[in-house]
Amino acid sequence: MFKIDLKSVGKALESFYEQSVKGDTTVLRQERMCSIIHKLEFDKYLNNGGLYGKELEVFLPKYLEYNTRLHHPKYLGHQCAAPHYTAAIGTFINAFTNNVASIYEMGPASVSMEYYLINWMLQKIGWTAAPLCSEDRVNGFFGGGVLVNGGSLANLTALILARSKCAPEAWSEGNPSELCILLPSESHYSISRSVGIMGMGSQAIYSMDVDSKGAVIPDRLPGIYKQIKEDGKRPMALVANACSTPVGIYDPLDEIADFCEEHQLWLHIDGAHGASALLSEKFKHYLKGVNRADSLVWDAHKLLQTPSLCAALLLKDHRNLDGGLFVGENASYLFHEKEQPGFDFIHRMLETTKSGLGEKLFFVLAAIGEEGLTSFIDRQYKLTREAYDYIQQLSDFACPVRPQSNILCFEYLDTGLSQLEIRKRLIAKGDFYLTTTVFKDKRYLRLVFMSPETNMEVIKDLIDFIRKL
Ligand SMILES: *Cc1c(COP(=O)(O)O)cnc(C)c1O
Repeated sequence: MFKIDLKSVGKALESFYEQSVKGDTTVLRQERMCSIIHKLEFDKYLNNGGLYGKELEVFLPKYLEYNTRLHHPKYLGHQCAAPHYTAAIGTFINAFTNNVASIYEMGPASVSMEYYLINWMLQKIGWTAAPLCSEDRVNGFFGGGVLVNGGSLANLTALILARSKCAPEAWSEGNPSELCILLPSESHYSISRSVGIMGMGSQAIYSMDVDSKGAVIPDRLPGIYKQIKEDGKRPMALVANACSTPVGIYDPLDEIADFCEEHQLWLHIDGAHGASALLSEKFKHYLKGVNRADSLVWDAHKLLQTPSLCAALLLKDHRNLDGGLFVGENASYLFHEKEQPGFDFIHRMLETTKSGLGEKLFFVLAAIGEEGLTSFIDRQYKLTREAYDYIQQLSDFACPVRPQSNILCFEYLDTGLSQLEIRKRLIAKGDFYLTTTVFKDKRYLRLVFMSPETNMEVIKDLIDFIRKL
């Protein structure tokens, strides 16, 4: 038997966090991998063991030195949360009990937590929460969902469900050749990849025109539909962004829903990043019409201060989820008749074993409350607008679009350097961490406001820094 001693871990993480928040270290430190493997003495530990107690106390600070600091005020990089520590505790607890949230008997508390959170999210969308007791689940119209390992996987699952609805014969006969799908030209790559994984080929994709902000133009949809019919194709779904990944713009969901309703088309909303705005009174108007969709993907590990990964796949009608994934005959140890005091998630997902993902979100939600998360989202969205107003009025900088979320793109005009080169120099020094994106055939610098510590001072510093490069 061993003792669970987390004192050294807590101490190391606390000092890592404090340094990050103060911003008196670099935000990232990239050394050559061969050098990191050498310096952290992986060989020694693997050969001799002993990485616990005193030795762990020595190792952890060295290891953390090479960790990218998401809590740092100058972290403006990818769309990953700077997690609240309470959420990390939830993750640790589940990691140790290793309760699996796939079937009830492998983790009654974990499954209950996930089921409860799915209902919380369903209600935020305006859908009907699922009954808690199994005897009440026999009939009735209500929503359903599942937490999976990432928005990409959730998108794939949603599209498979849409195909099951439109062409259930695909499971036995393969895809009907006339099957097609409507995607925004600005959709996340996981969507077109999913179409590829599903064996439909890129020829099945009808790309929807977007406006100068990159949002789908609803008036163009009837024209595309006419073309689809002329081509003898059958659309299985339409995907809309809430919001888009490169620039964070929301598609006009309500108008798109009108079109989908008229043609009885499955509407899937990729809200991996931006669905969290549903918690905000100020910004949820961007998601108007979301309740008219058939499926929605919502990542908690982006804007809900939750560690990776915790992505919700949510359906207005649970039956489209419960009956949508084919289960073969070779898993008799999992799928059989049984007295069911709880709920099994396993038939709702592509994974089999899955850790308790509810723990990642529940512990932060329960610690700081919905209000805590709401004010975080409001703060980040507002700060992004403020940064835009500031950068936009500088004569040597320009922004392609006014931000709607916490994503801001801009370019430095007064330079011989490419925007890529500017980023390269910034992150090489580790002073700032930001990304770039191509939007309308042009590359921009891209800020994603994830850290609760970022403020306008940081943005002004960044601008000065870029000018001096
Ligand atoms: C981030 C993102 C994804 C991918 O989600 P992961 O959780 O990183 O797999 C998909 N769609 C959109 C719109 C995103 O912003």
